[in-house]
Amino acid sequence: METIVLKFGGSSLADAAQIRKAADIIRSDPARRYVVCSAPGKRSGNDVKVTDLLYQCQDAARSGGDFAAPLAQIEQRFQEIVQELGVDFDLAAEIAIISRELNAGVSRAYLASRGEYLNSKLIAAYLGFPFVDAADCVCFDAEGTLDAEETNRRLYAALNPLQNAVLPGFYGSGPEGEIVTFSRGGSDVTGALVARAVMASLYENWTDVSGMLAADPRIVPNPRQIDYISYQELRELSYMGFSVFHEDAVFPCQKAGIPINIRNTNRPADPGTMIVASLPRILPPRTITGVAGHKGFTSIQVEKAMMNSEVGFGAALLQIFADHGVSFEHCPTGIDTMSVIVHSSLFQGCRDAILEDIRRKLRPDAVIVEEHLALVAVVGHGMSYSRGVAGAIFSAIGEAGINIRMIDQGSSELNIIAAVEEKDMENAIRAIYARLEQGVR
Ligand code: ASP
Repeated sequence: METIVLKFGGSSLADAAQIRKAADIIRSDPARRYVVCSAPGKRSGNDVKVTDLLYQCQDAARSGGDFAAPLAQIEQRFQEIVQELGVDFDLAAEIAIISRELNAGVSRAYLASRGEYLNSKLIAAYLGFPFVDAADCVCFDAEGTLDAEETNRRLYAALNPLQNAVLPGFYGSGPEGEIVTFSRGGSDVTGALVARAVMASLYENWTDVSGMLAADPRIVPNPRQIDYISYQELRELSYMGFSVFHEDAVFPCQKAGIPINIRNTNRPADPGTMIVASLPRILPPRTITGVAGHKGFTSIQVEKAMMNSEVGFGAALLQIFADHGVSFEHCPTGIDTMSVIVHSSLFQGCRDAILEDIRRKLRPDAVIVEEHLALVAVVGHGMSYSRGVAGAIFSAIGEAGINIRMIDQGSSELNIIAAVEEKDMENAIRAIYARLEQGVR
């Protein structure tokens, strides 16, 4: 039988009405066997996520303040869910444990994980499925890095004997049994790990949008919906800030070749976006899959006559950044110049030390630092077999009166990246999108 793993995000499980919708989706197909849950998210625009309320409790407890108010809000939210769903669940006992742990100075990760823990436990009770605690299956090492293989073994051992199960997302445990969380939005990663462990035929990621859009709708009005996107394209767009799906959740599915389907809990009939290894051949050919931009980059351009014949210059320059713990994003070179593009937030703290090292160790003719850059990425496998895309992109940017500061085409021809000034980013994206949608597509 087919096995589908489902992950429901916080807005899909924000209250009893949403949980009912999720339950209908789960029950509508017996292949939908394993369910990963987030903590209750926002019910409306100005609501607060349970995970954030838990962090508020922790902040209050740490500073010696009173955590009673945010904890009461958490209890109230779960109480409403328990009552409206009519599940048999001892919420008071669970809240008493959290309160005791808070007084004992429990870790931030433990506390943050309780939103997923409680929500999954009561959803398991509502569905009549066994609850499997992620703390017993998702393993991190002493540095807090996921142990993917041990996790795979444990998840398989726990889930294989079960027809159905509900698991909390977002957390696991370290070598001493202590709770460790992924970064925010990490339940997506848990879902992907479960999908890989049970060799699922599909990983459904249920959220509050009907899939991904080809551009940010706050920048481009009514962008096209993406029907299919490859894992690689998604990686490129996530790197640039597309945030429908957690970046780290792609790898486990990619490794196991499991397609991911982004779906909308509020519109379950919408097909959503399929994330796959390679795009189906039956699709009409298209040039680009998406356009995205990200601000907050700095370029450090180093000039030195005859740089091209100085063996080891590039390695030495990059080593300086590595020595200061700053990873580089792009590195365009000329004959006598080399630029290193880095995240401004990483560079700021060690700017003077890095520049001093460059001057001392490399004796350059000039070092030019340019801040407030944005990178705009045009992503799509289709670019490799259609002519004129680069020309269309650059002329669109030029015609919009925007100066391009750097161009980088990935060697896989999967993306073209242009650096522009931050203030020009939105206009550059609009210009590129408009041109590619009418023309080369
Ligand atoms: N509840 C966590 C967060 O708010 C994890 C998740 O929802 O995926 O980030």
